Amino acid sequence: MTELRNIAIIAHVDHGKTTLVDAMLRQAGVFRQNQDVAECVMDSNDLERERGITIFAKNASIEYGGVKINIVDTPGHADFGGEVERILGMVDGVILLVDAAEGPMPQTRFVLQKSMESGLTPVVLINKIDKPDARLGEVEDEILDLFISLGGDDVNMDYPVLYGSGRAGYMNKDSSLRSGDLLPLFDTILSTVPPPKCKLEGPVQVRIANLEHSDYVGRQGIGRVERGTIKSGATLMVIHRDGSQGKARVNRLEVFSGLGRRTVDAASAGDIVIVAGFEDIDIGETICDLEQPEALPVLAIDEPTISVEFKVNDSPFAGREGKFVTSRNLRDRLFREALYDRALRVEETGSADTFKISGRGELHICILIEKMRREGYEFAVSRPEVLLKEEDGQSLEPLEELICDLPQEYAGTIIERIGRRKGTMMDMRAVGDRTRLTFDIPTRGIVGFRTEFLSATRGEGVMNHRKKGWCPYQGEIAQRQRGALIALEQCDTVAYGMFQLQDRGDFFLGAGVPVYGGMVVGEHSRPGDLVINVGRTKKLTNVRASGTDDAVTLTPPRVMGLEQFLEFINDDELIEITPQSIRPRKRLLDPEARKREDRKRKAVA
Ligand code: GDP
Repeated sequence: MTELRNIAIIAHVDHGKTTLVDAMLRQAGVFRQNQDVAECVMDSNDLERERGITIFAKNASIEYGGVKINIVDTPGHADFGGEVERILGMVDGVILLVDAAEGPMPQTRFVLQKSMESGLTPVVLINKIDKPDARLGEVEDEILDLFISLGGDDVNMDYPVLYGSGRAGYMNKDSSLRSGDLLPLFDTILSTVPPPKCKLEGPVQVRIANLEHSDYVGRQGIGRVERGTIKSGATLMVIHRDGSQGKARVNRLEVFSGLGRRTVDAASAGDIVIVAGFEDIDIGETICDLEQPEALPVLAIDEPTISVEFKVNDSPFAGREGKFVTSRNLRDRLFREALYDRALRVEETGSADTFKISGRGELHICILIEKMRREGYEFAVSRPEVLLKEEDGQSLEPLEELICDLPQEYAGTIIERIGRRKGTMMDMRAVGDRTRLTFDIPTRGIVGFRTEFLSATRGEGVMNHRKKGWCPYQGEIAQRQRGALIALEQCDTVAYGMFQLQDRGDFFLGAGVPVYGGMVVGEHSRPGDLVINVGRTKKLTNVRASGTDDAVTLTPPRVMGLEQFLEFINDDELIEITPQSIRPRKRLLDPEARKREDRKRKAVA
């Protein structure tokens, strides 16, 4: 096992993880020279590419000096905390990759803390030192501060630091060098990260850290062999979460190799394997010897923190763009997802058309929505709601740490806005020429804040948050202050009509777009909803068939994506999702019904 090392890379989005792994693979000879390599080898998923973050952890493997190095990717978002923990359970060392200009960021902190708690050996890489605004000394101090603040005597401060550029393909111990290769990095990994502390002798034990599905072999478990040797074709025992046992045969056994996988006959303690054949295995459970079944401690699966309703699309445009629209379609697809994504919970509700989906955060839910619309589904979703829990007769809600980096002149307004959302400022300091504000804030207060934050800081602010724990319920948090601009009736929007209404608020769409009565077409500039006729034409003779009218110039619409709409909508609104469109709408499309509902609500209050 001395010829094996398992490491994870911890990096904030954009600090250069993908580029570095790409360079490591090249220099270890995984790619032949002149071979065309897709950029961003590790995050090849569309959704990830669009958002620029790692969502699904993937693995790679290289050989250097006769040693196999398994490189495990960790998800780059705090929504996936449980997955991060399980992945860290398979490695013995972590590479902390930090951008030499930006310094360590809050999400780095979350994963680093988890890895220090597990006693993993850190290697620090200060990356992108070629940047003109690199600040090596300061960033090194910030990293040291970070390690100190992670606390405890157990934290290893004696970590090696290398400086370099993943893009240029060099890392050196000497910070003044601006060339070279990655061999110092490989050597540092071999000399500081210990080989896996697994037992080669004894009956086999594999702990499953993640699941995958393949159409050919069905469910696959990914995990590290903790003891003994696992052999292809062997019949083994699986011990489930509840202690029950079941037998199954290893139908296929694979290990990571380069960027792909290789089928093997056997794999020994320490290596990370992909096992097929165990159809009912779950995350955190153990595969072990038939004669001497012994379970490893079960790994936790994260509890969901937010929920949304998924509803059958009942808008007048239902079925126009999607392939799968029925309640049956929706139900089957959602329950199928929950089989593999163990952090997702799917529940039936009192209504056959509505399902309650609970997940790890807005991003987790957004990923599911994006996947489904790409597959051809149509449905509607509600505003995300934070899940509360009861403890000792007290209602608790999830609390997060929110870190905002922004130009100093915006600090005042952000502090005030966070205050309104029940946040408390914990720290304020200068970082370079910017200000870094740290708050404790209920998760509810963050829902919908990103859009507000970006416009309040004119796009110059950066915000990050991570789950911190629970706090007593903080009371009502006001929803969106401004009302919605609502289409009066089904029509194609007309530039002339919209032009007349421009001063009423911001439109989400331009001219010539089909809308229906009750659809939200923009944000009102004041509180309270406003129903408007966006299809109004000047005089019949002057109108062009397309609905556009080049006599007027409209202010460009505020184009919003799924995440922004999810943050935007209120409780009495939904988002209609189809493969081609994302349309916010009122739950009740009929204005009279909305009025009745409003009167009812007021009577209750
Ligand atoms: P990831 O999100 O951490 O995987 O980051 P990527 O590897 O995708 O890199 C993010 C951006 O940083 C890309 O535009 C890269 O070209 C750039 N980048 C990566 N490594 C370096 C480097 O060493 N120096 C500089 N200046 N830019 C880099």
